Amino acid sequence: MQKLDLSDILTHLGEERSEYFNAVSPPVMQSSNFVFPDLAYFRRAFSDELQHHVYTRGNNPTVEILRKKLAALEGTEDALVFSSGAGAIAAAVIGNVAAGDHVVCQRAPYSWTTALLKKLLTRFGVSHTFVDGTDIENIKAAIQENTKVLYLESPNTLTFECQDLAACADLARAHGIVTIIDNSYASPIFQNPAAFGIDIVVHSGTKYLNGHSDVVVGVLCSSKEMVRKLFESELMTLGGVLGPHDAALVIRGLRTLPLRVQRSDESAQAIIAKLEKHPKVAKIWYPFHESFPQLALARKQMRGCGGLFSVIFKSDSFEQMEAFVHRIQRFLMAVSWGGHESLMMPTIGFYNIPGRENPPIPWTFVRFYIGLEDPDWLWEDIEQALEGL
Ligand SMILES: *Cc1c(COP(=O)(O)O)cnc(C)c1O
Repeated sequence: MQKLDLSDILTHLGEERSEYFNAVSPPVMQSSNFVFPDLAYFRRAFSDELQHHVYTRGNNPTVEILRKKLAALEGTEDALVFSSGAGAIAAAVIGNVAAGDHVVCQRAPYSWTTALLKKLLTRFGVSHTFVDGTDIENIKAAIQENTKVLYLESPNTLTFECQDLAACADLARAHGIVTIIDNSYASPIFQNPAAFGIDIVVHSGTKYLNGHSDVVVGVLCSSKEMVRKLFESELMTLGGVLGPHDAALVIRGLRTLPLRVQRSDESAQAIIAKLEKHPKVAKIWYPFHESFPQLALARKQMRGCGGLFSVIFKSDSFEQMEAFVHRIQRFLMAVSWGGHESLMMPTIGFYNIPGRENPPIPWTFVRFYIGLEDPDWLWEDIEQALEGL
């Protein structure tokens, strides 16, 4: 678990203030390259680019502060950051497979993770099996001689299916398989998968970690050895790195991470408590809701859930459902989540798109994200919109 106090991580860790005029906020080290004062330093720097400042694709001082804080938040030895969550996910998977290998993946990960396995890696001879990861037996049954990676997303971000992290880590270790988890939903405040033995923890830092809906960023936390391996191969060759300016924005975002996720969590619970009593609500999906099929496991692995949940409304008219969605004004209709602003993503918006099949999810399904606004003000909006559904 976390060795350092959260306050220490967010206020002190990595901040060498005497190196930059005792400024409270770290400078944006907007430089692509760094000077070698002499040849001895030149040679030392090139012997280890991860530990020295040579070139910003590899190592930048502002980015380094962010990496230290993220590793400490997840309780891992080191961390890397990427220009998107998708970049971090791709680096974690690609860095641990070769042609002829096989990946076992829980059945409904983030859409571009599915695309990575189905579209990109199959072109390079890496096969995969998607499994219902709610039962460890399914994962066990899917493991082959050539399985090298077990990819988890617990909870995932539509129906919040969970996997038993300790059981997955034990199973994988016994077979020499690397475990990767997308921990974006819980954030490091509510779940630390490394404590259960998971090897690599990835995040879309675009969501809670940055938290202000103004940066796209990916995070990868792991052992020193794994971080070095992925730094020297995927990070340096694919080059999807985060710039120093964006890194400074994410450091800014982290300062308030515990406050923001706690607020989202409490407000989401307050709104769910009202929704569950409403006659037009058929089902609520939220890992800590009493109707959640994996409630005990969710409570065992997480300290909280945060602001993301889904609802199935009662409606038998497509047009009335569309009108309901349009009556909601205070929630912004948008993808993503984890920022200051409350959002809704209605499945009905994925229906009737030219050239695309309708999704397998009912059009009465809406995913909500509760941001930092007053929960009563948000509930008023849902309540008025529900009139006439
Ligand atoms: C958004 C998201 C991603 C992708 O992250 P980007 O920063 O958009 O590349 C990956 N996993 C989950 C669970 C996400 O919500």
